[in-house]
Amino acid sequence: MMTAYFDNASTTPVDPRVIEKMRACLGSDGTFGNPASTTHGFGWMASEEVEWARSMVAETIGADPREIVWTSGATESDNLAIRGVFEAMADSTGRNKIITMETEHKAVLDTCAHLHNAEVIYLKPEPNGQLNLDALAQVLDDKVLLVSVMLVNNETGVVQPVSDIAAMAHAAGALMHSDLAQSVGKLPWTVDSLGIDLGSLSAHKIHGPKGIGALYVRRGSCRVAEQQHGGQHERGMRSGTLPTHQIVGMGDAYRIAKAESATEIERLNQFRDRIESAISELGGIRCNGLRGVPHILNITVDQVDAERLMAAMPQIAVSTGSACNSATIEPSHVLQSMGLNRHQGLSSLRISLGRMTTSDEVSILIDTLTNAVSQLRSTA
Ligand SMILES: *Cc1c(COP(=O)(O)O)cnc(C)c1O
Repeated sequence: MMTAYFDNASTTPVDPRVIEKMRACLGSDGTFGNPASTTHGFGWMASEEVEWARSMVAETIGADPREIVWTSGATESDNLAIRGVFEAMADSTGRNKIITMETEHKAVLDTCAHLHNAEVIYLKPEPNGQLNLDALAQVLDDKVLLVSVMLVNNETGVVQPVSDIAAMAHAAGALMHSDLAQSVGKLPWTVDSLGIDLGSLSAHKIHGPKGIGALYVRRGSCRVAEQQHGGQHERGMRSGTLPTHQIVGMGDAYRIAKAESATEIERLNQFRDRIESAISELGGIRCNGLRGVPHILNITVDQVDAERLMAAMPQIAVSTGSACNSATIEPSHVLQSMGLNRHQGLSSLRISLGRMTTSDEVSILIDTLTNAVSQLRSTA
């Protein structure tokens, strides 16, 4: 049985064009050299590829190539940004507070929770998922070092007013970090339009390879303490031999995402409209959060347990934001923070689209979901 893939917010298949570019960096007939080797052409060629990719990523987000630090993904970038800034700057500035939101990715929440001597303030969103700027204003003072709020939520697709948040943070003398993993190619933005100092990027959410990402660090705005020690790669912020094939894959994925973003947004919006109108015909289903990016849709199906619904649609790959810890299933922390109760949280599904999503797959999703929901409700 063919499975239609609607879990692109979790990861995406690598674009075939990206695979070709990566392949050319691996073997003895390719650019396999160590980009840090300065004594021969193998190294120079690899370094050229890495710098090409750096400029592609920089161009896509409106940054200078010197502001891109390669990491292993958005998780590491979140760690490096938050811990790195705190370690390098808290003492010298006398600022020990970090403001973030309860709806952030665990990479941000758990990093904050593990900081020594930091006071972390976790803001609740409005029921629509967005930050209330008045609530932010109330906690912003001259002890705040960093504000970290993601641009696009990975579970709901809700878009945060990051440029407003950054302006408020700066007015209070604080720095602004944003997790941008779900945002590239799905919304028009640049690091300047957002006004951020630090931004976390990943490749595998936009048809690049897993295990590679980057941290955007605005020049002259902050200091970042290295989190792993070694050969002082990446201007001392992140040591480790650069994986040329991964980096080139990320660069090409970003190039393609930028080049195709306008047509892709339009195509995904049409798919989403079709799914939303089918859902409203079914009735008893609500969409969670303010309508955000075209590729993520989070729904709560009244009277239907999400695990049972997924079991009734084995030909559809979707996800819940629930976490399984040992015996019990806990509803998504994001949905709970938005005010959904436990029961509603456990009746929620995330449907996420990508570049490989086809119109036929959308039809299969709609038919399968309609049948499964009707069947489960009639037997309830
Ligand atoms: C996927 C994701 C991450 C983690 O990215 P990795 O590159 O897999 O480490 C972090 N934040 C958000 C919002 C994500 O969607």
